[in-house]
Amino acid sequence: MTLLTSPQLRETIRTRLADETGRIAKQAPYTIALAYPSPYNAGMSSLGYLRIYRSLMESPGLACDRAFLDDVCMGSAVAPEHPITYEALRPIDAYPVIAFSVAYELELAGMIKMLEAAGIPPRREDRDGRHPFILAGGPLTFSNPTPLTGLVDGIVMGESEGIIVDIIEALRDAPSRNAQLDALAAMPNVCVPALHGERLAAIAAADNSLLPAWAPIRTPHAEFSNMFLIEAERGCSRACNYCVMRRSTNGGMRIAPMEKILGLIPDDAKRIGLVGAAVSDHPKIVQIVSTLADQGREVSLSSLRPDRLSDEFVGALKKGGYRTLTTAMDGPSERLREALERKARVRHLEKCAEMARKHQMDRLKLYLMIGLPGETDADIDECVAFTTELSRVVPIALGIAPFCSKRNTPLDKLPYAGIEVVNDRLDRLKRGLKGRADVRSTSAKWAWVEYVLAQGGAAEGLAVIEAVHNGGTFAAYKKAFKNLEAAPPRETTARRRHLAIASA
Ligand code: SF4
Repeated sequence: MTLLTSPQLRETIRTRLADETGRIAKQAPYTIALAYPSPYNAGMSSLGYLRIYRSLMESPGLACDRAFLDDVCMGSAVAPEHPITYEALRPIDAYPVIAFSVAYELELAGMIKMLEAAGIPPRREDRDGRHPFILAGGPLTFSNPTPLTGLVDGIVMGESEGIIVDIIEALRDAPSRNAQLDALAAMPNVCVPALHGERLAAIAAADNSLLPAWAPIRTPHAEFSNMFLIEAERGCSRACNYCVMRRSTNGGMRIAPMEKILGLIPDDAKRIGLVGAAVSDHPKIVQIVSTLADQGREVSLSSLRPDRLSDEFVGALKKGGYRTLTTAMDGPSERLREALERKARVRHLEKCAEMARKHQMDRLKLYLMIGLPGETDADIDECVAFTTELSRVVPIALGIAPFCSKRNTPLDKLPYAGIEVVNDRLDRLKRGLKGRADVRSTSAKWAWVEYVLAQGGAAEGLAVIEAVHNGGTFAAYKKAFKNLEAAPPRETTARRRHLAIASA
C-alpha cells in the first residue's frame, strides 16, 4: 500500500517523525485518520488539532494517525501525492473515518485536494458506506461552516475535545452508514448535512475541567519550531464587533490558573507558546511570562493587546526573547477603531512605541485591517500621519489584512469593500509611508475569496471543487463563483452582492 507514494515523501515523513518529541505511541482496535488540510508545519502549530490528537490517543480502544496536505501544494497547482498517515504510512482512504481540522475558509481547497488524491469523491453526495466517513471540525465552525455541508458527512461545532471520543465511538459502533448518520444527528453539537442540510448545530463548549489545552508533540519542523503550546485562557471578554471570539461566544473568557499552566510545562521545553484569543488579558500574564523568562525559557504569546502592555510586561517579554513587539492597531484611524469597539487608542500605541524603544526591541509591528465599513481616504491619511510619528520613535512594520465580514458577529453580511478599493487604499498607504515603515498586506483578491466563502453556503463550498480542478488560481475561483449565478435555486442576496462587487 505504501508504494502509492514516492520514496521522497516517505523519507520526509520518517525524518519528521524522528525529530518529534512527545508523540504518543499507541495501537488500538479502532484507529482513525486525523487530517490537517494544510502542510505539516502549519498543522503541527495548531493547538486545537494537537488537542484532539491527545483526546483520541488517551481514550481506551481508540487511536488516530496524522495526515497533512502535501507540501508541494503550497502556492502551486501541483496535485498532492496519495496522502498517507505519518504514524502508519497508510493511505488515508484505508481508515474508517477521516477527521479534518479546518481553521479557515481557504483550507477547503486543501481538504478537497487530499480527498481527491486519495481517490475519495469530495462531494458528499458522491460517497456512500464504502468510503471513509468524512468528519470536519475546527475554528471555522465558530463562524460559518456551511460551505462544508456539500463536502463532509458530519460537522463538529465548536470546542470538540470533550465530545470527539463519543462521536468516534458512535461511528465505530453504528452498523451502517445510515446508522452512523442517525447516531451523529442525535448529538447536540454535530451537524449531519444529509439530514440537516445547512441547518447548523449549537457550538460546543468544553467543560472547564478539560482546560487548558496543551500540545503533546513538539517539532523543529513546525511554524512554531520546538515550541510547547499551551492555552493560557480560552475565549475573550471583549466585544470587538467583527470577531467571532467576542464575549458572546461560549460565555466569554475562561482563565487557566497560573499554577496549572506552569505545572504542565515540561522541564525540557525551552520555548513556550502561550495561546488564547486574548492571552494578554490573563490577570497574571506578567507573572507567568516573568517566571518562564527567569527559568531561561523563550516565551511567545499568540496575541498582545496594546492597552495591556506595561513597562514591566514589555520588560518580561524582552527577557523572554522578544525582539519585535507585535500588537494591534486594528483600524487605520481613531474613528474606525472606535467603530469597531476596539479599546486600542492613539495613546496606547504611542506608549507601545516608547516601550519598544526603551526595551531595545528591533521594531514595533502593528496589525490592522483596511477596507472597513465607512472607511475613506481620510482614514488612510490619518494612518500615514500617525505611523510616521511612531516611526520617529522606533522602526515600524504594518501587517495589513483586508476586512472580511464573518457570520456570528455584529458586522455579519457587510459587503467586501472591493478588490480595487482595497488595493487603492493599500497603495496610498504604501506611498505615504515609503521609507518610513515596512508595509505588508495579505492579498485583496484572496480576501475576496475568503469573504465569499465566509458568507456563502453549500453551493460556494462545492464551487471550490471546480476552482481546484481549474488550477486553484484566483481566476479559477472567480469563474467558479460566477457560475453559481446560473444556478437559480440557490441564488442568495449575499452571493449576488459579492459577485457584483467582484465584477465592479
Ligand atoms: S480582543 Fe481579540 S479575541 Fe477579543 S473580541 Fe477583540 S479581536 Fe476578538
